[in-house]
Amino acid sequence: MGDNEVFRDMVSILGEGSVAQNVSMKQYTSIRTGGEARFLAEPDSTEKVLEILEYLRKKHLEFYIMGNGTNLIFPDSGYDGVVIRIGSKLSRIDHVGNRITAQAGASLTAVSAIALESGLEGLEFASGIPGTIGGAVSMNAGAYGGEMSHVVAETLCVDELGSIIRLKGEEHAFGYRKSRIQTDRLVVLEVTLLLRPGDKADIKRRMDDFNGRRREKQPLNMPSAGSVFKRPEGYFAGQLIQECGLKGCTIGGAQVSDKHCGFIVNLGNATSQDVLDLIRYVRKTVYERTGVLLEPEVRIIGGEI
Ligand SMILES: Cc1cc2nc3c(=O)[nH]c(=O)nc-3n(C[C@H](O)[C@H](O)[C@H](O)COP(=O)(O)OP(=O)(O)OC[C@H]3O[C@@H](n4cnc5c(N)ncnc54)[C@H](O)[C@@H]3O)c2cc1C
Repeated sequence: MGDNEVFRDMVSILGEGSVAQNVSMKQYTSIRTGGEARFLAEPDSTEKVLEILEYLRKKHLEFYIMGNGTNLIFPDSGYDGVVIRIGSKLSRIDHVGNRITAQAGASLTAVSAIALESGLEGLEFASGIPGTIGGAVSMNAGAYGGEMSHVVAETLCVDELGSIIRLKGEEHAFGYRKSRIQTDRLVVLEVTLLLRPGDKADIKRRMDDFNGRRREKQPLNMPSAGSVFKRPEGYFAGQLIQECGLKGCTIGGAQVSDKHCGFIVNLGNATSQDVLDLIRYVRKTVYERTGVLLEPEVRIIGGEI
């Protein structure tokens, strides 16, 4: 099937302005690397997500689901398929009692702000994580002792056959930065959080404290994909990397941040290859010097480390 035909079909499903061809993933990832996606589609309703998935399945076209792209590294050679971005076009948030229901593309920051406004506690840890709630559930994102598994009551998903399923609590099989969403290749459409009534001033104080610690410790003014490695049991990845003398270590345009060694930052012209080479170098060096094998937390599209 030719690209023009696929493009026309997708526009007829999603509408003008919701599909683009040959899109640089630099614009759509927080680390600002990667080649072009053959197509990028941004559905603005759950019905359109279902329709586009059905179309891609019928035509045997590859697809990849992304949110805000804050944990992703696309190859420099690009992505030969359809990137479906579930972001700001699918970001409605509703609040009833102790529950907040958000479409998957709602930002964690926006959902946390609603929790604060509504005097609901439990989501303070997430207010500074720059992803969508769909991406956060998939990754079981967490910080400062909290993680999504503590607050997710239910999600509405589409499975690989196009059926809508509802997952509750333990059915998500949450683990450290992983969930059933990843292993079963589910697409999250909507997330319901169950929070607890709390004191607004306390909630705000905790959010401000966590965000202050982020600003102080993390290189938030540089493009990155957050912490590159998972926390190895009994250690902190950043500390191990620093102790191995890798602070500021640079390959091409990618650098081990000198503010927080767990982050790799893009100095301006990094390629994904630079980032991956640096990840491999850090991993090898840390393993040789300490015996600890660091596992990447970032999602590397089309390849393993
Ligand atoms: C400065 C900075 C700080 C960060 N701090 C933290 C932190 O404290 N804690 C932490 O855990 N992470 C942190 N991260 C990483 C990242 O923000 C989180 O992993 C976040 O949850 C990813 O959300 P996203 O929408 O950007 O997802 P993406 O990066 O777009 O995707 C991540 C994964 O989620 C999947 N996904 C996305 N949306 C959906 C969906 N609707 N349905 C199914 N799968 C989906 C993708 O396929 C991919 O596997 C940080 C990143 C940066 C840049």
